[in-house]
Amino acid sequence: MNRYRRLLSAALLAAPVSARPQDPYAVKRERLVHEIVAEMRATAGSTGRSQMNDAVARAMGRVPRHRFVPPDLVDAAYLDRPLPIGLGQTISQPFIVALMTELLDPKPSARVLEVGTGSGYHAAVLAECFAKVYTIEIVAPLGEKSRALLAELGYRNVEVRIGDGYKGWPEAAPFDAILVTAAPDHVPQPLVDQLAPGGRMVIPVGHQFGAQDLLVITKAADGRTLTRKTLPVRFVPLTRER
Ligand code: SAH
Repeated sequence: MNRYRRLLSAALLAAPVSARPQDPYAVKRERLVHEIVAEMRATAGSTGRSQMNDAVARAMGRVPRHRFVPPDLVDAAYLDRPLPIGLGQTISQPFIVALMTELLDPKPSARVLEVGTGSGYHAAVLAECFAKVYTIEIVAPLGEKSRALLAELGYRNVEVRIGDGYKGWPEAAPFDAILVTAAPDHVPQPLVDQLAPGGRMVIPVGHQFGAQDLLVITKAADGRTLTRKTLPVRFVPLTRER
């Protein structure tokens, strides 16, 4: 190898993943975004949303989901399916991630709280659409792994806390948006209290092994809340600290 070629290959190795000439996953991600767009349209009657806003579509097209799934499931990373991530937990289906993010009405200046960090994938999608993400995970090894991965991928606007998200994150409240990605059997009052006036919460509520409804709760300027049911969903249960 002559000197010039050696320098060139060193420069390529130093380039961030996204800047490399061919990202073998980019095409798969693009295809997935098309599937999500179609599914959004098909479910608009129940969700009230027929389209994703640009920021959400861009985030779904950018976040490397294959980095958030176990190594043996990398080939399935861009199928529109939930996948197991170990310790009895799952990474949500991409359509559901996109829909929940869309229902939060993300704004580039807004702050969001996520309960249930899991793999960290949804937190990365939120980080692309919000100014700041606070995310809580109750299973310590999962939270620690996600914190390290999000940092490695350069998401500097995400803070991961290990703890019981039922109680929210009072020191950082109020939040413009709250996303819950594990299902309680009732809406946690601390989360309602930590939602800013004008804010929105998206949360699956229902039985541990039965039907759950994806709810959108909006808080008016006077503090009153309005709850709307969207789709039936299936999430792992919200557990509590003992
Ligand atoms: N948002 C995740 C999917 C989460 S699965 C992703 O993108 O991968 C639900 C997660 O909620 C699990 O990791 C589970 O451990 C966590 N969880 C359950 N109860 C919780 C609680 N009370 N507080 C915080 N996290 C909780």
